[in-house]
Formats: sequence, C-alpha cells, structure tokens
Amino acid sequence: MRIKPLDPQLIDTARFAAKVRIGLGGCHIWTGARTPKGYGRFLVNGSHHMAHRVAYVLAGRTLGPDLVIDHLCRNTSCVNPDHLEAVTTQENTARGNAGINTRSRTHCPQGHAYTVDNTLVSCGRRHCRRCRANRRSEAARKARERYWAKRGRQAEGVTS
Ligand SMILES: [Zn+2]
Ligand SMILES: [Zn+2]
Repeated sequence: MRIKPLDPQLIDTARFAAKVRIGLGGCHIWTGARTPKGYGRFLVNGSHHMAHRVAYVLAGRTLGPDLVIDHLCRNTSCVNPDHLEAVTTQENTARGNAGINTRSRTHCPQGHAYTVDNTLVSCGRRHCRRCRANRRSEAARKARERYWAKRGRQAEGVTS
C-alpha cells in the first residue's frame, strides 16, 4: 500500500474535530466516513487519508513514508494520538511473519487477547484488563493473609 504524504498545514482542524466523539477507554471515535475495516477516512486537499494518520500528524508527530500506525487500543476507528504507535513497515512485516512476535502484539504476556473490551490504554501503552483484575484480587488475597497472620499472632500473644 502506498502511503500519501500528509502536510499538517493543509488539514482543516475544525472539520476534523467535529467528526470525533470521546468513547470508552479514552478512545476518540471517528464518526465520519470509514473504510470497510473501520478505519476513519478524511479528505485533505482533495485526497482521502486515514483519519488516525491525520490525528497523528495533527498531534505534532511526523510520519515518514516508511511508518505505519498500530492501534494500541485495537479500536480501528480510534483517532486518539495517545492510542497510536508508529512502527516501521519493516518492523510491521517482521511482526506479521514471526508468529511469536505477532502473538506478543495481539496478546498480553499472559496470553489474554487484546480485544477492544480487554484493552486499556494509558500513557501510550496497552494494558490487559484481565491481568489487572487478577493482580487486584491477588493483592487483596495477600492483604487478607497478612491481616489474619497478624490476628493469629495477637491471639497467640493473648493465650500464651
Ligand atoms: Zn483508542
Ligand atoms: Zn492478560
């Protein structure tokens, strides 16, 4: 796929902002025209561009012709620059060819799929909701154990 260059000077910022709605998980949902895969489309200087690429450039970041954008939130219609990560086409191809790398991109280290529902994005990083919930219940279990261990020691102290 050939990627057209994008000049930030030519982007109609107000028209772009009018097509964005804030959604769940901090996603900026594109409400304008979309491609069949769900990517937003936006007209800049008479030619169509991917809306998330426009958002990326509007955020002051530069996009070389060898860079493709990866959605950290897995939501293809999201145009939140914090949810977008630029990777080189070589890197993207390498990820696509090597099964293990692809898996690490689509699943968390524990093997949970990064679906739209299971993915939380903060500070430009992808987080797994299931792992976060597991960590929380593990922390709660340890706190309970500490509490009962303390109570146990206190009880022993009273009886002996
Ligand atoms: Zn998003
Ligand atoms: Zn996980």
